[in-house]
Amino acid sequence: MEINLISDTVTRPTKGMLKAMMNAKVGDDVFKSDPTINSLEKKVAEMFGMEASLFFPSGTMANQTAIKLHTNPGDQLICDKYAHVYNYEGGGASFNSGVSCKLVDGHRGMMTAEQVEVAINPPDFYHSPLTSLVCIENTTNKGGGACWNFDELQKIKAVCKKHRLSYHLDGARLWNALVAGQESTEQYGALFDTISVCLSKGLGCPVGSVLIGNKELIDKALRIRKILGGGMRQSGYLAAAGIYAIDNHIERLAEDHQKAKEIGKVLESMAFIKKVEPIETNIIIFELDEAKCKEATFLKKLTENHISIIGMGQGKLRIVTHLDYTDKMHRHFLKVLQDY
Ligand SMILES: *Cc1c(COP(=O)(O)O)cnc(C)c1O
Repeated sequence: MEINLISDTVTRPTKGMLKAMMNAKVGDDVFKSDPTINSLEKKVAEMFGMEASLFFPSGTMANQTAIKLHTNPGDQLICDKYAHVYNYEGGGASFNSGVSCKLVDGHRGMMTAEQVEVAINPPDFYHSPLTSLVCIENTTNKGGGACWNFDELQKIKAVCKKHRLSYHLDGARLWNALVAGQESTEQYGALFDTISVCLSKGLGCPVGSVLIGNKELIDKALRIRKILGGGMRQSGYLAAAGIYAIDNHIERLAEDHQKAKEIGKVLESMAFIKKVEPIETNIIIFELDEAKCKEATFLKKLTENHISIIGMGQGKLRIVTHLDYTDKMHRHFLKVLQDY
């Protein structure tokens, strides 16, 4: 039994998902004539109460397309210093859009509306880059799966409105935030100009993200996706996995959250663990007390027990629970930790 807790992307399609994929009706999506892609895009747009959506091969391409939609070369976007769009998309904001990032020193990947307002360059001060976009991330990845307070998101929206900035949500793990919180997809749809959601993280699809927005923006996004090389042909096989996942794998995220909390409890009781960050969803970030236990020693012990987790640098380690992390694996992992 191999237990992979490195990411929620390590899942393989379930039997039901594979069956849905094999039975998909497909066409050529570059000609917009793949019926399964078309129904996924309609379904996701309707879920969020937005006009349109577009399927992408990755979350990175969906976010990069959104940045391109909302900016011109030379502009600046505002994001938290932990943001995926800044840290983990290969410098795409500058490469694809010629845009710089103003980093905000937030808390667990989340900024306040006041911080956002202070970060805006005055538009008449032509020496500075023109601020045109605010990107936020929910849940936060590097921030340890933290969920935003919806009031703060609304306050940031008001700042965007006042200063005529676009507002993009990197919702790679928005499903986790929705399951952990009280808000609806429609409430998110009403707040943002564009939202990217991922199908291959918590939902267990092999491939895919969806960018959601109004019709005008999504029409433009189609051209940008083409330029980035993201136009695919019989991608309905992938969309079928997405439809299946939306229908069957959202509510069950609560199980991943529960398991993450149980792991966190055990970690907190261990003498050589200095700190476990608050666990809100399926990500656990913790720090070892290296005077008592070296990171390499701890990881080796886990490897011997067929358990993989990942280091994040600066003495931090990360565990992510997911669809393929079974109850049996969970019992084994907790026992390995308790017996350490
Ligand atoms: C994983 C992730 C992405 C990018 O998704 P890929 O499909 O890996 O390109 C974007 N944003 C966040 C917050 C993520 O965790």
